[in-house]
Amino acid sequence: MPQAATLNSVLGPITPDQLGFTLMHEHVLVAASGLYQSYPDLLGVGPEARAIASLKRAKAAGIDSILDATTFDLGRHAPLLRAVSQASGVNIINVTGWWLDVPRFMRGVGPNQMAREFIRDITEGFRGTDIRAGLLKCAADIDGVTPPLETMARAVARAHRETGIPIMVHSHPGTQLARRQIEIFREEGVDLTRVKIDHSNDTTDLEYLQWILDQGCWLGLDRYPGRLVSPRQRTNTLKALIDLGHAGRLCPSHDCICIHLHNERPDGSIPEQHDYYRGNPDQYLYIHRQVLPQLREMGVREADITTMFVDNPRNFLAAR
Ligand SMILES: [Zn+2]
Repeated sequence: MPQAATLNSVLGPITPDQLGFTLMHEHVLVAASGLYQSYPDLLGVGPEARAIASLKRAKAAGIDSILDATTFDLGRHAPLLRAVSQASGVNIINVTGWWLDVPRFMRGVGPNQMAREFIRDITEGFRGTDIRAGLLKCAADIDGVTPPLETMARAVARAHRETGIPIMVHSHPGTQLARRQIEIFREEGVDLTRVKIDHSNDTTDLEYLQWILDQGCWLGLDRYPGRLVSPRQRTNTLKALIDLGHAGRLCPSHDCICIHLHNERPDGSIPEQHDYYRGNPDQYLYIHRQVLPQLREMGVREADITTMFVDNPRNFLAAR
């Protein structure tokens, strides 16, 4: 398979071999567009320092790279990602595209218009910076692919066709939503082997997951510990997919968020630690500490672990 010579990280181009052990769906920051710049105090004390400390721990334990899935509407602030990557030593590849929040004033925007903007994020950089997106993302959830989200999905598809950059897709397995998302990609002529359907471990429905794999897509099994399905069930599903011979298409990750809004409690106090952190104190290391030991105990071979965390990220991101 021909490989791209370089990938766009937030610190500049890196070679595919520099990726190393990679988590394919994480977040440094999740908020709303412009919030980090305008109301940083809502994000708790010292957000940047917290993110750096968390990723330094990850790096020390062997995590070399993360894909940061924070789009514009999730509050992307590219200079923050650059600072965090620089200080922690973890490569960060950031996305362009859109999550679920399309503002009402944008409802008339067309797919070609948005595609042009996404292409500029990839080729020139996020406006006002020279930090380039390395990946595309679109999203839909329980309400289905609504008209504004369909515009974004088609824009992402067209930007993919123009640039060759792969696509990660926020999906909703409970409604088998990838069936509709993949249909849109087919209409747009997207190469489905460059598409990763994310949040796929929010179900244990192996038949549906196999159907996605049969279309040529990758599976993002990227919620750990997650909420809808127990971590143990997620690991059982992962093991079942490995046993069916799909290790070369599976991308386990956490969907961890280390900077998040710290909402006040009914008594007016502001929690020092976010609920999200209390739910997963291991943060980016949950898989290292909790899941990999279980997988090894269940008989998963070291070679399959390397495939999922080292080879798959490289193959997904660098294929051309
Ligand atoms: Zn996410």
